[in-house]
Amino acid sequence: MNHNLQGIGMTSRRTRDRMIERLKQQGIRDNKILQVMGNIPRHIFVDEALASRSYEDTALPIGYNQTISQPYIVARMTELLLAEGNLSKVLEIGTGCGYQTAILAQLVEKVYSVERIGSLLKKAKDHLWDIKLKNISFQHNDGGWGWSDQAPYDGILVAAAPVKIPETLLEQMAVGGVMLIPVGTRQQELHKIIRTQTGYEDAIIESVSFVPFLAGRE
Ligand code: SAH
Repeated sequence: MNHNLQGIGMTSRRTRDRMIERLKQQGIRDNKILQVMGNIPRHIFVDEALASRSYEDTALPIGYNQTISQPYIVARMTELLLAEGNLSKVLEIGTGCGYQTAILAQLVEKVYSVERIGSLLKKAKDHLWDIKLKNISFQHNDGGWGWSDQAPYDGILVAAAPVKIPETLLEQMAVGGVMLIPVGTRQQELHKIIRTQTGYEDAIIESVSFVPFLAGRE
């Protein structure tokens, strides 16, 4: 592994271990997730000027008015997703810098990731290539359309908040599948939706703060 991937000083293994300790204190229990998050170099997903802050528990800017999600929320959403059993196909809406994608790709069989901002998607692909993750397919599109060719999905994880849950995403869930999605404008709640034989169960998990889910692509 080269020096940059390994990290030094504020991006070192020790700093990363502290992030994992904090996640445990915040209630993250799944050891597989903690292990994967401990191994992924989060600092390569942000600009060099911010690398020293990359293991703090905050969202950081990644350009284009977007942010890399806070480690706690990445861990929490992943934990809620995996709690529903083994997932083979997962759809992610909002690739951003690709950090959440990197975590998912090591815990499920295959990730389909959709991002509406082309330049962000390109950078994310480069980072994920650098850390040699191959079980990911990307699409530059408005995630409001989902990814119908590959549906249905066992899991859907949405990293931007719509005002209301897109119907298309509900339709692309497998029966028994789970979706984690933040909903709302200023006041947002994380919803966990399960598709049953007869309909959908909708549970509100906690208050969250995500960038808005926007239409179209750029
Ligand atoms: N998972 C990312 C979080 C990125 S922030 C990470 O780990 O860093 C949310 C991302 O969702 C942004 O990149 C934004 O451009 C994207 N986004 C917002 N609305 C979208 C939509 N309708 N379709 C696809 N991506 C969308």
